[in-house]
Amino acid sequence: KPMEGRLTDLGPPHYEQFMPQVIKDNKGKWLWHEIVQPGVLMHKSETGDEVYTVRVGSARLVTCQFIREVCEIADKHCEGKLRFTTRNNIEFMVDAKDKVQPLLDDLASRGNRFPVGGTGAGVTNIVHTQGWIHCHTPATDASGPVKAVMDELFEYFTSMTLPAQVRIALACCLNMCGAVHASDIAILGIHRKPPMIDHKRITGVCELPLAIASCPTGAVKPAKAEVDGNEIKTVKVTVERCMFCGNCYTMCPAMPLADPDGDGIAILVGGKISNRISAPKFSKLVIPFLPNTPPRWPEVVEAVKTILEAYAKDAKKYERVGEWAERIGWESFFEKCNIPFTEKSIDDYRLAYNTWRTTTQFKF
Ligand code: SF4
Ligand code: SF4
Repeated sequence: KPMEGRLTDLGPPHYEQFMPQVIKDNKGKWLWHEIVQPGVLMHKSETGDEVYTVRVGSARLVTCQFIREVCEIADKHCEGKLRFTTRNNIEFMVDAKDKVQPLLDDLASRGNRFPVGGTGAGVTNIVHTQGWIHCHTPATDASGPVKAVMDELFEYFTSMTLPAQVRIALACCLNMCGAVHASDIAILGIHRKPPMIDHKRITGVCELPLAIASCPTGAVKPAKAEVDGNEIKTVKVTVERCMFCGNCYTMCPAMPLADPDGDGIAILVGGKISNRISAPKFSKLVIPFLPNTPPRWPEVVEAVKTILEAYAKDAKKYERVGEWAERIGWESFFEKCNIPFTEKSIDDYRLAYNTWRTTTQFKF
């Protein structure tokens, strides 16, 4: 039966039926919020109602068993309702202060599977992409390095001891469906070699015009090649124009570019989308290449931890990583983080607008 106000029962169910009653009752009436303790937020309504949100870190890929356990917790404490954040946290909401501690005790009784945290001046859960498990163009895995890094930074997730929040993100190729372009610390999978063209397969599995049109730099061109004594239509890649993005492989499976030696990870820092203290910033490249070393990616873990700890020690309260680096100067940033400076470091992204009014920070 369609819900009231809806014409059919097609499409996703109306989101309101998934809201806790206190959220429905106070729609548009929330006045302010505070972080009561790491991982616990309190929102106050003008009606006097309160909602307490307990934020729990989770992996992005989880088992059915885990989902069942999450639902069981929600049934027990939160009217069967919960929400997932964009950073894969689970948020359990209760409508009274005396319901918070029983929920926290229940979560703590389940081992380390439900860590409470991810609020305020700490490391938020790492937002990440699909990696080797699901996508076709990754230069590295996603869940693997994220797990290895978060295991090492776990104490910063459950506490709020950093100068400000640190958002870490991972994208397993530079198409970046993981938002690494504006993260405090970004882990980016990179290919370093152009696609390898399998002329034998290409006519059977590819639409050549699509492969040519897919390249953002115009590096894929029509060509001819000899296969088994016959001349066939195929493509060639102008290597100097290739930025190793893998878009051509998306269109043409005969142009793979995954390569065990060429693929690896770059580290970028200093991005943010907030307008506080300074305007939003893009992340800047600081480590051009680290090898892919599954299952625990020790080089990547070490690099991220070193940057985070140098920032934790040196930055002023409320300063994000990029603001800290700009205040002390990028030269000092490289010294303090023990990173060699190379000609590939720090891309200076400029906005292409014909105006200075590119942010709300602009003043005459
Ligand atoms: Fe696929 Fe690239 Fe997204 Fe990774 S970042 S999931 S490789 S598109
Ligand atoms: Fe073009 Fe990207 Fe393919 Fe290189 S990898 S040829 S830049 S589409």
